[in-house]
Amino acid sequence: MSGMNFELTEDQQLIRKSVAELSARFDDHYWMEKDQAHEFPTEFYEAIAAGGWLGMTIPEEYGGHGLGITEATILAEEVARSGGGMNAASSIHMSIFGMQPVVVFGSDEMKAETLPRIANGDLHVCFGVTEPGAGLDTSRITTFAKRSGNDSTGDYIVNGRKVWISKALESEKILLLTRTTPRDEAAKPTDGLTLFLTDIDRDHVDIRPIKKMGRNAVSSNEVFIDDLRIPAAHRIGEEGKGFSYILHGLNPERMLIAAEALGIGRVALDRAVKYANDRVVFDRPIGMNQGIQFPLADSLARLDAAELILRKATWLYDNGKSCGREANMAKYLCADAGFDAADRALQTHGGMGYSEEYNISRFFRESRLMKIAPVSQEMILNFLGANVLGLPKSY
Ligand SMILES: Cc1cc2nc3c(=O)[nH]c(=O)nc-3n(C[C@H](O)[C@H](O)[C@H](O)COP(=O)(O)OP(=O)(O)OC[C@H]3O[C@@H](n4cnc5c(N)ncnc54)[C@H](O)[C@@H]3O)c2cc1C
Repeated sequence: MSGMNFELTEDQQLIRKSVAELSARFDDHYWMEKDQAHEFPTEFYEAIAAGGWLGMTIPEEYGGHGLGITEATILAEEVARSGGGMNAASSIHMSIFGMQPVVVFGSDEMKAETLPRIANGDLHVCFGVTEPGAGLDTSRITTFAKRSGNDSTGDYIVNGRKVWISKALESEKILLLTRTTPRDEAAKPTDGLTLFLTDIDRDHVDIRPIKKMGRNAVSSNEVFIDDLRIPAAHRIGEEGKGFSYILHGLNPERMLIAAEALGIGRVALDRAVKYANDRVVFDRPIGMNQGIQFPLADSLARLDAAELILRKATWLYDNGKSCGREANMAKYLCADAGFDAADRALQTHGGMGYSEEYNISRFFRESRLMKIAPVSQEMILNFLGANVLGLPKSY
């Protein structure tokens, strides 16, 4: 009988093993130093690029391997699980699947110019959606792209402000969501948004890093855009349809984030088990106490269950089937299970969990992020409540 199969293919197992081996070259010390120095992990990024992994999902004709989201999530999980956590994952996140709007809707020239450079690691790109005045309600963004002339081929002049843009400081280009029709003049609130892939011209773009709680090796930034000229050729697809292009990439992004959360949870749990076996208090390893053992066993069960829904989601996506329900559940469950594992690992380490010397506090901070960004747990429940259960829409 065929149909149900929980095993990864030989190629997928090889990807897991190879990425784990490569990532193991960068130890806790490396990640702690990069995090504390707020320094981009260039050596790690270059090693991943040299291994050919950045182009994993980019079509072969543009220098990639044309693999699916299943393989991409295996890579993301292993990179995070190595102890690199979100610093490692975020340094390559945009390259692994973030260029999907360009792959699907970009012009041939745009693809030829950018995708091979993404695949070989030469081109860093960031994603500019979030704005201070809009929050999760993307239809409320106000960064505006106005035609400079009267005809439809002219350049756009863009003004506005973005917030939380990861890696903007290190990037040459930005995938930028703008308005081209004011919200109150559009047929639907999500109409009239336009997506560009354009150069970050520092004469017209001011970038200011935000001080934050963790994942400090990859910057998060306020981006101030002042009369930035964008050629029409830098527009992705049609004017006014940018929101639908972004929606197209949302499910794979949720899966990638889920895998990263899972990876942090797994490394935190591994460390907790080791410490619980090694640390002796009251003449016995602390792991002998059920107060320590049960939460860790519970985390194992939750991580494994969350991984199953993630595997289902990636399988559905790669087989061209609808996967909104599973992709959202995977993000929700992996983020929760990952954070709980990190929290329990911290508790297991006692005072040493709170110190900076062990890496547990770093995992704790990074796993907490996964419950907020790129989409909050509440918005996932909103989606499931309204779109899957058929309850009244609340947002
Ligand atoms: C480290 C980091 C990196 C990031 N990187 C990027 C990036 O590269 N590019 C980018 O564009 N953005 C990025 N973001 C932004 C991120 O996507 C947003 O922070 C996230 O989408 C939440 O939006 P917000 O912060 O504006 O929260 P808000 O929209 O202000 O929401 C605040 C809280 O209210 C809740 N809430 C709001 N409305 C409802 C509702 N109707 N029902 C229930 N709860 C609700 C939310 O769930 C949330 O908990 C990043 C954020 C962080 C912290």
